[in-house]
Amino acid sequence: MNNRYDGRSRQPKKKSAFRIIIFLFLIAAIIALGIFSLGQYTAVQALQNNLQSLEEKLDRVEEEKNRLEEQYEELYEENEQLREENKMMRSETLIEHGDRETNKVAITIDDGGREAINNRTLDYLKEHQVRATLFPTGKNVESYPETWQRAVEEGHELGNHTYSHPFLTNLSEEQVRQELSGWQEAVEKAIGGSYHTLFFRPPYGDGFFSGQGYHRERLQPIVAEKGMFPVMWDVELVYALRNDTYSSARITEHVLNNARGGSIVLLHFTEADIEALPRIISDLRERGLEPCSLRELLLADPQT
Ligand SMILES: [Zn+2]
Repeated sequence: MNNRYDGRSRQPKKKSAFRIIIFLFLIAAIIALGIFSLGQYTAVQALQNNLQSLEEKLDRVEEEKNRLEEQYEELYEENEQLREENKMMRSETLIEHGDRETNKVAITIDDGGREAINNRTLDYLKEHQVRATLFPTGKNVESYPETWQRAVEEGHELGNHTYSHPFLTNLSEEQVRQELSGWQEAVEKAIGGSYHTLFFRPPYGDGFFSGQGYHRERLQPIVAEKGMFPVMWDVELVYALRNDTYSSARITEHVLNNARGGSIVLLHFTEADIEALPRIISDLRERGLEPCSLRELLLADPQT
């Protein structure tokens, strides 16, 4: 009996211990849940903060973007204006000589129809370390591609002298355009890459002499369209010596008597002109003048 009572009286004790454990367990669970929620809460707070600072950054980026867009618009307009001015300048400027204050004299050589003379010219220029501006026709570039490739490799500049050397005043505007792009294609094929020249020399000077204003007004915008300036000369031989003996000695003498700082000398790839070339170069130098290309004469920074 006693045992039974004992048993009974021990039973409620066990029950209350169990309840306490459950109770403690619940408390622990609540605390854990609390800590967990607090953690979650802090994490959410941190995320919200991050989000906010990202949004602020985004706003700043947006502002920067708008600012740059405005700047771009301004620069674009400025660029358009410069292009227009540039085109106008090319449409109006006829180059006959450079700055008279310099000691530079540009050597320009036209046509290039005889391979042996072309190569001799390049040899002389190399020997005397002169860079020149060469105006071969497109046809001559097509016939002797290696020569003109060599010329470019050796630092000379090629100028557009049309494809087939016509009198431009006889041609329609479309034909003039074809003559210019024919030259361009021949040069790019010969050198195996794109080539841009700033300079155009009209065959025979035709269309650009003073007194040919009507033709020049028609022709020069086409030349400008292709990004080029027409280049004449202030020292030449064909017209000047037409009633004279056309010898190397006479050529040298004429060039030296007439060239001064800023001059543009027009020679041709002919036996007499090219045989005079070494003497012209060394005599110019003796007089303190430095033979160079058009780019070197006319551009402040010839590398651009
Ligand atoms: Zn010519």
